[in-house]
Amino acid sequence: MNPFQKRRAFLASQLAPGDVAVIPTAPERSRNRDANYPYRFDSYFYYLTGFEEPNSVLLLNDQAESILFCPPKDLEKEIWDGYRLGPEQAAETLGLTKAYSFDQLDSMAPAFLSNHETIWFPFASNPEMKGRLEGWIDAISQKVRTGVRAPHSIKNACLILDEMRLIKDAHETDIMKKACDISALAHIKAMQYCARALRLNEDLKEYHLEAELLHEFRRHGSEYPAYTSIVAAGANACVLHYRADKAAIRSGDLVLIDAGCELNGYASDITRTFPANGRFSGPQREIYDCVLSAQEAAIAATRTGAKFSDPHDASVRVLCEGLLALGILNPKTHGTLEDVIAHKKYTPFYMHRTSHWLGMDVHDCGSYVEPTHTQEGAASTPWSDLDPLKAPSANATQSRILKPGMVLTLEPGLYIRPSPDVPEQYWNIGVRIEDDALVCPQGVELLSRGVPVAVADIEHLMA
Ligand code: CA
Repeated sequence: MNPFQKRRAFLASQLAPGDVAVIPTAPERSRNRDANYPYRFDSYFYYLTGFEEPNSVLLLNDQAESILFCPPKDLEKEIWDGYRLGPEQAAETLGLTKAYSFDQLDSMAPAFLSNHETIWFPFASNPEMKGRLEGWIDAISQKVRTGVRAPHSIKNACLILDEMRLIKDAHETDIMKKACDISALAHIKAMQYCARALRLNEDLKEYHLEAELLHEFRRHGSEYPAYTSIVAAGANACVLHYRADKAAIRSGDLVLIDAGCELNGYASDITRTFPANGRFSGPQREIYDCVLSAQEAAIAATRTGAKFSDPHDASVRVLCEGLLALGILNPKTHGTLEDVIAHKKYTPFYMHRTSHWLGMDVHDCGSYVEPTHTQEGAASTPWSDLDPLKAPSANATQSRILKPGMVLTLEPGLYIRPSPDVPEQYWNIGVRIEDDALVCPQGVELLSRGVPVAVADIEHLMA
């Protein structure tokens, strides 16, 4: 069995007798006039099929019989839009029970769904297809007098698939390691280009470094970036969702790059912060070393059996120690380390979480709360105690327990905006260091250390 067949077999094993899963791929999306956005399949669909063509739907029953509807062979259309596998080939190539033309979907799907109780559909995928599914169920309901039974509920297949995707199999971690290797090379390329261009007094803008990243991604076979690259020079590093824009990069600036390629459907996600001219200034290095120590604490806290929130808590403690030691937080006004942590006095300088899941999607699926705490056992807040304007905070005791095969980012940062309360030498310094961590039976494997993080290594690389 190939990995996709194994996943289909596992999904089938999770269905009750008489259940069917309907998993569509993503629709094509128009960008403007006759130009579409580059096509990207739906992650759930690809996870179960390995099939990249649009206009396709997988049907799977509890016996692991799998039916694919896919674009029919059409030599005229293939001249314009490229090769199609076609239903005649698809069943054998993809290890399916049977495949039909997508043109037959509306006429044939009701027959496959008749006499089944529950349909599982990934609510987070293709809303247009959900409407069609409801149409098929209506069509079956109108025939109940002929003796067929209509499905009586649609359940969210993401509940099962998110749990499956949260634990990466060997096929997935192999690809993720390759994606990280490519992204690491791209970061190195951008760092070296940056220092060289400044030495040669060349015009240097943020987008020049983005061009280096994209070139390196593509050169190694990545289909596209996993997300829009951030290349932020100087004060722009303090804008969390900055893109690569046209600001000039100057000697003396720090440059923050948050960029990762996608390879065969899997994301990588790396952030490095480096001095544009290849040498950290004293204050830059103080902030950098603080963030690096926070990341080391996060790495040490990431292991099988730990909570998802442990790396964050470990990072926050080290960052707060640093903020107090550097005089960015003042013990006289902000209190002790424990006060600073308890009252979140660090949030003007560290306002995001340390981790997110990583996989096919850069912010990958998977609950951050232990499943046992989300089911009937978990007490819901009485409405009388509820403040609907406040986001519910995940109680630390409910945090997900890390298991082998989970992949998460470890990405502490500090972002120091100008303020009369903050020593001026730190103004406009923004630092984030982000690596991708695979949880192992023993500790953690960092997938993205092809690009170094230590100050001496970065300076050496850029010299
Ligand atoms: Ca990132």
